[in-house]
Amino acid sequence: MTGKTNLLDYDRKSLESYFNEIGDKSFRAQQVLKWIYHQGVIDYQSMTNLSKSLRSNLEENTIIKLPEIITEQISEDGTRKWLIRVDDKNSVETVFIPENDRGTLCISSQVGCPLDCKFCSTGQQGFNRNLTTSEIIGQVWMANKALGYFEGDKRIITNIVFMGMGEPLLNYDNVLKSINLLTDDLGFGLARRRVTVSTSGIVPEIDRLKEDTNVSLAISLHASNNELRNNIVPINRSYPMIDLLAACKRYSEGRGDETVTIEYVMLNGVNDSLQDARALVKCLQDFPAKVNLIPFNKFPGTNYTCSNVDTINAFRDILIKSGIVTITRKTRGDDIDAACGQLAGKVAAKAARHQKNQTGLI
Ligand code: SAH
Ligand code: SF4
Repeated sequence: MTGKTNLLDYDRKSLESYFNEIGDKSFRAQQVLKWIYHQGVIDYQSMTNLSKSLRSNLEENTIIKLPEIITEQISEDGTRKWLIRVDDKNSVETVFIPENDRGTLCISSQVGCPLDCKFCSTGQQGFNRNLTTSEIIGQVWMANKALGYFEGDKRIITNIVFMGMGEPLLNYDNVLKSINLLTDDLGFGLARRRVTVSTSGIVPEIDRLKEDTNVSLAISLHASNNELRNNIVPINRSYPMIDLLAACKRYSEGRGDETVTIEYVMLNGVNDSLQDARALVKCLQDFPAKVNLIPFNKFPGTNYTCSNVDTINAFRDILIKSGIVTITRKTRGDDIDAACGQLAGKVAAKAARHQKNQTGLI
């Protein structure tokens, strides 16, 4: 263990404060950010516009430490999955999904997840800890590096989604700093609309997220009534659906026609009836929403199965007829288990499934 400060834990504001504290100018922070996030340079001696004395000061007191790639798997469809070591006992997964007009990186925010959604592999593994800012932004840096972004002049990762392991709004401060770095011109410079936070519904933090970032929002709804949601997404017992939908409405205010994405996993015989579809339409009448139907992805030990294709199509048609833009998400990276809800990594769980209530969240 080194006691040195990791500069990847700082966004622009906190890095400027750091330089002020060591008696230097704020613009040093801007120079360092450009080296790291524009040029991909993490070796102080190569940061040639910093004085020699500043470089050795930084070398003595700080580091630029990235999480380490353990394995890379590439799917037949071009999807890539990286297993990333975050410490001796834990690893998380990051997935790159190339499409014709975009490249989406799906990043993790926690080691495991404390929320225990019944259909989610990550949730079923228990929870160990939050990722630090450096571990979150480090996933993006290393994916950019692996994809050749720092060498070329073309953006390969055009969109970021917090849909990997963990519940991002339970790691608010580090997720916020990471978003700041993603959207800062001196960081990765992505438009805020191209960054999506997916949440199972931590209502107070949804309001904060709007205030602080206004990035795109995705809600893992998965049910069209409160009782069912209590069962399959247990955080609903703390933040009931009615409050969650009201939070979506508040999030939408002042954002024109920007939609909130509603994620709905299709579970055979659980939430996929035509009655469920009609009830879902009613839930979404107060704010602009678009729906992503996600075919359930199996993982070892689960009893759920995916709805059949006809059922998914019939469900989709009801939503579309009611004027709601609805797509059925394609399952990508099937051959490398890279799909939604399949990310496993290695979680030395401090809170195992049966101990979850001790987190005080559910
Ligand atoms: N914790 C956040 C983000 C990570 S999960 C959240 O829940 O929103 C990303 C998405 O994958 C969520 O919509 C989640 O509900 C969905 N998901 C989880 N397990 C799944 C599975 N086995 N099959 C399909 N989607 C799943
Ligand atoms: Fe956690 Fe999201 Fe999985 Fe639920 S679906 S257990 S909130 S990662």
